[in-house]
Amino acid sequence: MNAFPAVVGQHIGKSFGDLTVVQGVNLRLPAGRILALLGPSGCGKTTLLRLLAGFETLDSGYIDIDNQRVADDRTHVPPERRRVGIVFQDYAIFPHLSVAQNVAFGLKRSAAAERVSHLLRLVGLDDLGDRMPHQLSGGQQQRVALARALGPAPAVLLMDEPFSNLDAALRLEMRREVRALLKGMGTTVVFVTHDQEEALFMGDEVAIMRAGRIEQVDTPEAVFHRPRTRFVAEFLGHTDFVAAQVQERQLLTSLGVLPQRLSLPADSLVEVAVRPDDVRLAVAADGNGYIASRHFLGIAYLYQIRLDDGSLVHSWQPHTINIPEGARVRAWLDPDETVTCFHDGQAVFLPD
Ligand code: ATP
Repeated sequence: MNAFPAVVGQHIGKSFGDLTVVQGVNLRLPAGRILALLGPSGCGKTTLLRLLAGFETLDSGYIDIDNQRVADDRTHVPPERRRVGIVFQDYAIFPHLSVAQNVAFGLKRSAAAERVSHLLRLVGLDDLGDRMPHQLSGGQQQRVALARALGPAPAVLLMDEPFSNLDAALRLEMRREVRALLKGMGTTVVFVTHDQEEALFMGDEVAIMRAGRIEQVDTPEAVFHRPRTRFVAEFLGHTDFVAAQVQERQLLTSLGVLPQRLSLPADSLVEVAVRPDDVRLAVAADGNGYIASRHFLGIAYLYQIRLDDGSLVHSWQPHTINIPEGARVRAWLDPDETVTCFHDGQAVFLPD
């Protein structure tokens, strides 16, 4: 493995006119790792990827790829000289070239034939080299695009929503296959998606973007279970928040009393992040809320509960728990559950 990271970016900034789209972004991606960039629509994911690719010039900061400066205030190495491979949502393969010719595009002629058959084997298209793109399914076209992008052995592969034109079942299959392939080859990847499940599945690390900034970069488990900001918690996992009043050893919430393990100052107010799988539920005339709605999700019911203090929380329950809308219920949190508390939008953690 290379001693230096495949991608380094510092203070990357980009505006379009008055609109600041990327600001103060720092990246450090070791070779062989997959970074998933996740965030709501318009947060700047694609622009950041285009800055890495060289399709946009940056306004501030710098980008190094494979230890070469490719962008700063005086440098703009064009995309074809950055050692990046690119896979887009819309495949972008040449319609008038066969599968094999598409994959051979950009390879040195002498070694092309052998390399093309190797790449086609890797992406599972060994028998389809002579087909034309219009004779392929969407999934097969995306495999061609992937084989072509991997052909010149790029220092980093940039993927922008590569599976979003595929139907749900194929998307899952491609995720699994492509991830195994990329990890097997030790490819360094930046992968843009707005789909949280996809980001958690694909990424060795996940960067959560908001309004042009990266709020948190961490392992999938850490961004999900240890969100550093309220935004990250809210964005991942359908999180609700309930107010909690801090006492010396307890948190008083509308979902019951929880232990206080954080040394928060007594009498302060915090918010506790609550996910639908944390919220327990039972019918109870003397409960603390009522069922505002119930939705059948196939594998579970999703209940929406209006608590007596006016807040709304969600709870997933198995089919065996069947409670009608309007019913009075008790909703509570298991006191053994580790909860994340937020103060002024920032998570409060125990000191490490
Ligand atoms: P999505 O998930 O919807 O693709 P995104 O996070 O990838 O969103 P970007 O495509 O990077 O977001 O766009 C960020 C913002 O920059 C948006 O407000 C977009 O309208 C704006 N923008 C992007 N490209 C340009 C451009 N060439 N000129 C002006 N504004 C642009």
